[in-house]
Amino acid sequence: MVDKEKRIGILGGTFNPIHLGHLMIAEMALEAFYLNRVIFVPAKEPPHKDTDVIDAKHRLDMVQVAVLDNPNFVVSDVEMKRDGKSYTIDTLRYFREVYGANTKFFFIAGTDTIQSLPSWKYIEDLLDICEFIGAIRPGATDDIGETIEWFGQRGSRIHILEVPEMKLSATDLRYRLRHGLSTRYMLPRLVYQYIKDHKMYGV
Ligand code: ATP
Repeated sequence: MVDKEKRIGILGGTFNPIHLGHLMIAEMALEAFYLNRVIFVPAKEPPHKDTDVIDAKHRLDMVQVAVLDNPNFVVSDVEMKRDGKSYTIDTLRYFREVYGANTKFFFIAGTDTIQSLPSWKYIEDLLDICEFIGAIRPGATDDIGETIEWFGQRGSRIHILEVPEMKLSATDLRYRLRHGLSTRYMLPRLVYQYIKDHKMYGV
């Protein structure tokens, strides 16, 4: 019997914290590309963008509680367990090993991340392993057209996914949490509870 092809989405991120923008693009990608599941992969490196450096374990746990009620969403700690620097190419190679050759991988990202792809380390290798799904994110700086052209020149696939645009970012949410502003309808309820229980982000 021939194995049915599996289609798996990978959503990497810092998830500091995970918010409804992440969950929404994962769900839209799952639906539009007939994915069997989406794997959320929290990055190991603490965000150095600002002072809210949260223990990797908490970021992972928050993703875990956020996906609890969705049987199509799973979380992987593969990047967090890896010694030394962690590259997306290693993560994709790992999943290819786990899921076998009959699996097609889709790397899901917001358009801001998509625009940065040409400068990623080992990007040419990554292009061989997966296709890309770019979810339109409000406020992305440049025209995505240039990036699409860049992919085209390499014979690689990038799919632009129209999603209900949510102007949500973890940075804004950290600001809201720190300043006692509402995050209701922006953060999953259980994630907010987790943040409260662990007294994170100044809550
Ligand atoms: P920060 O504000 O700390 O930079 P973030 O909200 O961008 O965080 P990340 O964990 O860095 O969250 O994002 C993971 C992936 O999800 C990235 O590819 C990012 O582009 C995408 N993403 C995050 N928020 C949205 C959103 N509101 N709409 C579409 N894509 C999003």
